[in-house]
Amino acid sequence: MIWNLGSINADNFYHLSHLPAPGETIAATRFHQGLGGKGANMSVAAARAAARVAHIGAVGPEGKWAVDRLLEYGVDTRHIAQVEVATGHANINVDAAGENNIVLFTGANHAITDQMIGAALSEASPGDFLLMQNETSGQSYAARTGKTLGLRFAYAAAPFSSQAVQAVINHIDLLVLNAVEAAQLQEETGQRIEDLPIDDIIVTLGADGCKWVSNKGKTAQEFASYPVEVVNTTGAGDTFTGYLIAGLDRGLPMPDAIDLAMRAGALMVTREGTADVIPDLKEIQDHDF
Ligand code: ATP
Repeated sequence: MIWNLGSINADNFYHLSHLPAPGETIAATRFHQGLGGKGANMSVAAARAAARVAHIGAVGPEGKWAVDRLLEYGVDTRHIAQVEVATGHANINVDAAGENNIVLFTGANHAITDQMIGAALSEASPGDFLLMQNETSGQSYAARTGKTLGLRFAYAAAPFSSQAVQAVINHIDLLVLNAVEAAQLQEETGQRIEDLPIDDIIVTLGADGCKWVSNKGKTAQEFASYPVEVVNTTGAGDTFTGYLIAGLDRGLPMPDAIDLAMRAGALMVTREGTADVIPDLKEIQDHDF
């Protein structure tokens, strides 16, 4: 079972002829709203990978649609609270050339309290996974509580903050980060990734696949990605992580869980969109890589 303390966002896409200048008002030519947030993406990916996943999070008074969508995708939503702060959202302006600018409001994602997390994790069993990213409140409390309960703690260090990683680093069993985040972490801690006190570290490398550093840096293995035609890379990392944890939760050895995650990540970059288009297990099995 996976307990995912994670963000839930509304991704509001406004398609425009050009990006607005200061003081300018432009009518959007098209609008659509999608489910997003790294947390929600990972919960959906894990559920699509046939894992049992409970999302721990919060939405605002108008956020019921997001909870319903997660439920529809097979995520346990009993521990998503409704709070007074607006649901987290990203307002994404996209111009005719595909250039964008984004306003992010963390909103309800930062209204998650230690009590909410404690109530959810009181249902967890030793050996379950606790998954987190850096888009919610309550991370230190959750990491500490998870350790006390004997949960396996997987941390996706995104959006990257050295401070956030440092706050939970002693509890992390599995760290997942991309190449840029890995470089930032090395620079800010002055420590090589291999020297961090963490059992397993996966560095994702986009089209170049990923690297698994294990046994506290004693061994490292590289995995080539599956070649695909890239349409949009958004959400590849979240899909990879959701599938990776789902694979491990199902008892797959790390190389097999990585292989499954890379297939899911590869298929994801062939698609436009985020949570709503994350592939399911059958699509991955049916795809001829
Ligand atoms: P994002 O922030 O865009 O969601 P990320 O930077 O966190 O992604 P990436 O390293 O880009 O994560 O991608 C995660 C995984 O998805 C890779 O390790 C790889 O397996 C797969 N992947 C990503 N891009 C490609 C690609 N162009 N071709 C094949 N596989 C890819």
